[in-house]
Amino acid sequence: MDIINILPDSIANQIAAGEVVDRPAGAVKELLENSLDAGASQIDLVVKDAGRTLIQVVDNGCGMSDSDARLCFERHATSKIHRTDDLFAIHTMGFRGEALASIAAIAQVELRTRQPEGELGTEVVIEGSRIVSQHPSACKAGTSISVKNLFFNVPARRNFLKKDSIEFGHIEEVFRRVALIHPDVAFSLTSGGKVVYSLPAGSMLGRIAGLFGAGYKEKLFAVREQTDLATVSGFVSRPEFMRRTRGEQYLFVNGRFIKHAGLSTAVERAYEQLLPERCHPCFFIGLQVDPSRIDINIHPTKTEVKFVDENALFLILRSAVKRALGQFALATELSFDTPQEFNIGPAPRDATFDMPQVSYNPHYNPFHATGSRAAQTAAPSTPTAAMREEEQSMLTVEQTAETTAGHGNGACVQVQGRYIVAPISSGLALIDQQRAHERVIYDRLMNQAVSAGSQTLLFPMQCSFSAADAELLAELLPDLRQCGFEMTAIGQSVFVVTAVPAGTDGEGVNAMLERLLADYKGSTMQKYARRSESLCLSLARQMAVRPGTELRQEQMQQLVADLFSCPMAGVSPSGKRIMTIVKPEEMLK
Ligand code: ADP
Ligand code: MG
Repeated sequence: MDIINILPDSIANQIAAGEVVDRPAGAVKELLENSLDAGASQIDLVVKDAGRTLIQVVDNGCGMSDSDARLCFERHATSKIHRTDDLFAIHTMGFRGEALASIAAIAQVELRTRQPEGELGTEVVIEGSRIVSQHPSACKAGTSISVKNLFFNVPARRNFLKKDSIEFGHIEEVFRRVALIHPDVAFSLTSGGKVVYSLPAGSMLGRIAGLFGAGYKEKLFAVREQTDLATVSGFVSRPEFMRRTRGEQYLFVNGRFIKHAGLSTAVERAYEQLLPERCHPCFFIGLQVDPSRIDINIHPTKTEVKFVDENALFLILRSAVKRALGQFALATELSFDTPQEFNIGPAPRDATFDMPQVSYNPHYNPFHATGSRAAQTAAPSTPTAAMREEEQSMLTVEQTAETTAGHGNGACVQVQGRYIVAPISSGLALIDQQRAHERVIYDRLMNQAVSAGSQTLLFPMQCSFSAADAELLAELLPDLRQCGFEMTAIGQSVFVVTAVPAGTDGEGVNAMLERLLADYKGSTMQKYARRSESLCLSLARQMAVRPGTELRQEQMQQLVADLFSCPMAGVSPSGKRIMTIVKPEEMLK
């Protein structure tokens, strides 16, 4: 006796709906995404009872023809892909052709749609996958879909819904995720007759402010980076607005919200030297990558994405945020009140343009390191008032100090064998000599453009390691060479070291290399970071002057000058604060 039968569409759709529309927010996401795919510039979402009784999405997009309006509720009905190849070049939010079929299987749906060029539109009413009626309708251009009484025929689902406040919270979050990354589209959300959000089209910063409050404009600064692999753009929070808990952290890829632990870590890592432990930045970052390099085909409702170039993207993202942090520290003033500046619209036809003014110092000569430094900062910078005093000195030391560091009269004093007191234009800097030195060495080692400098040993040293360490060492040889080591393997686990980084003596080279390997193995960054980074950090730590080392006047002045030429002069590579600045006002007191 045969016992297998093919399920009718209505049941198949209901089963599919379990995956696509697990709660009202799921339907909201699909409808909003359809409107975006339809090229709408205005999308209005209306819900009642947290979406239980009504979810309506009205857009001014391309609309549908009469027959499409009926067909769109069929399973696997989509206008977005045609061939297998299309799956690897997805430029739309949807492509499965499942959403409307699923929604129509578990709700009462009314669709009104008209193509802009058509005179008359269509109205389709469908209930539990059954078309109830279809007739011409004089509706607005675009599409309006009302989803009523969600789960009316699936009581089990209905019973699983949470309190209205929770379900509405999910809807809000879906709305935010979609609206954030499409600031060029106007959105509104109305719940129970009350307008919750009304967001005009504009810049991303304006959108963030519209969703999270105008206060955010002061908390953020822009990140922008373009590489062959990816374009990064968005906003991250200033270090002083860190949070104890992970707050607003939004990552998007090709206009789609994603969750990706690796990439989120990349952003957090960029702050590594600026945030205390267990503090988190906010970020709103969009990536644009070649669609063929990602796999979004994992699950309709899931936000996980797989990248082919995960490691490279990690580095790109981290360095983009790092660079922005560096620039932000240097920026004289960021105007956050004019979001338009981040979103330059099409120019009026008869507009005239001013050439951008770039100010630079024509006398600047990078090879006269000390003499030109004062001239270099023609316009002393005034960081924005909102920054807290403390962070200010931490982030902006380099500019304040640049005007004095390296001056002949800047005699320094060493205190307690571990601090250097140096006069700078904004007051007195109290500098931790070890941390400062760590920073200087680290930056020199990391600066791959110049060789770190190496010192040939009079007597080559033989160093031996355990078999595992020797293997790792052999692997790290190119990076070590970059740092100034010269060595060759002789035999299984014995190396001959002929040169060491300038500034070290050959004496403890074996121990140094062992610590280096131990640090490297203990580094949490191995998965993503360039290995040289953890090597440089370990080396810098080992090579920096210890407390108790007496420094001569020239040495101190050199160290202070070197420190102030580092982009992140305020913090050591291991994230510790290097200096405190005593301002003239404070001295007066
Ligand atoms: P998918 O979005 O994966 O293609 P859907 O079930 O969400 O599948 O939608 C089916 C089709 O209906 C879409 O491919 C599109 O052609 C059409 N459609 C859905 N929503 C709209 C809309 N708001 N405006 C215009 N066309 C739409
Ligand atoms: Mg869709």
